[in-house]
Amino acid sequence: MKSFFDYERSELAEIFDPSFRATQIYKSVYQRWFDDFELMTDLPKGFRAELASEWDIKLPALHRRFVSNDGTRRYLVTATDKELSETVFIPEEHRNTVCISSQVGCALACTFCLTGQLGLTRNLSAGEIVTQALIAQRDNLTLETRDSFNIVLMGMGEPLHNYDNVMKALRILHDEHGLNMSMSRITLSTAGMLPAIERLANEPMIPNLAISLTGATNDKRDQLMPINRKYPIERLIDAVRNFPLKHRQRVTFEYVLLKGITDDPQDALSLVKLLKGLRAKVNLIPLNEAEELPYKRPSDAAVERFQQILTDHHISAFVRKNRGNDISAACGQLKKKWADEPQKVSLAQ
Ligand code: SAH
Repeated sequence: MKSFFDYERSELAEIFDPSFRATQIYKSVYQRWFDDFELMTDLPKGFRAELASEWDIKLPALHRRFVSNDGTRRYLVTATDKELSETVFIPEEHRNTVCISSQVGCALACTFCLTGQLGLTRNLSAGEIVTQALIAQRDNLTLETRDSFNIVLMGMGEPLHNYDNVMKALRILHDEHGLNMSMSRITLSTAGMLPAIERLANEPMIPNLAISLTGATNDKRDQLMPINRKYPIERLIDAVRNFPLKHRQRVTFEYVLLKGITDDPQDALSLVKLLKGLRAKVNLIPLNEAEELPYKRPSDAAVERFQQILTDHHISAFVRKNRGNDISAACGQLKKKWADEPQKVSLAQ
């Protein structure tokens, strides 16, 4: 069986005869949420049976679903090889966010991130990336509200380490006869995979860019994010400076505040210096603590002081709220913690 979600509409148009069947089926699957070809009564009956024997349009099974007391939901999605990927739905008043993974585990080994401790198991396919968004969408929204979410590639993995599959997934999500998501609703977050940022800058479709910084000097960043030893900070900033931005668009810098390590006023001043002249905003993320991590979260006062220094220097800085902490859904906490527990989930409320 072929996974339907691995295919762009243009690829399906090459396979199906007549080619407009690709558009019909795309609409049925992505816009009407049909998961059975028999429901597609606009297709000839014989063709429906043929499709059903060749193409899988069911969403992958859920291994577990966790619901936080703040409404955040975390999904462990089972792949055909039984690997698990993690997805988080974060409800917000004006805009919901779906946080999706690009890899099982991660190779980058950032010292403050639990996913980094797992190492890399494998890349996710385009279909495995797309279906994470669909699972969160169908579990939380209705056909009427189906467009009211943004996607952030901030789950497990380094998206630019799985470049081709991630870009293919973006094209599928963007398709006008599919989810029809504009690139302004999608944010790709990278730890600083340099040649890939330059490659992304030349794509016909470019999502919002977020850079995980967490150290404003090479000294600091080398310790916390080993990738900095390969692609040092000044080259990273150069790549950001050359990244194409639309009117009023800005690059987001994510900066994890680690007590006594990245939260000093001096660090804030280094950050100000680094970002000078860039069209940037900063998301400050107070560390989400975990037993396995050798760091502490700074006090609220230290977080405020840090933010104030940035604001005083005319840099927009926001403190990211800590959502889903009680179900290990917060930034940096995604790890196959419950993988060994038996399957126990139902999508129905
Ligand atoms: N590899 C990509 C995508 C992962 S995004 C990237 O690095 O951008 C995950 C975000 O969570 C990153 O910005 C990272 O800095 C942040 N993060 C990782 N561990 C964290 C932790 N323990 N507490 C708070 N934020 C963390």
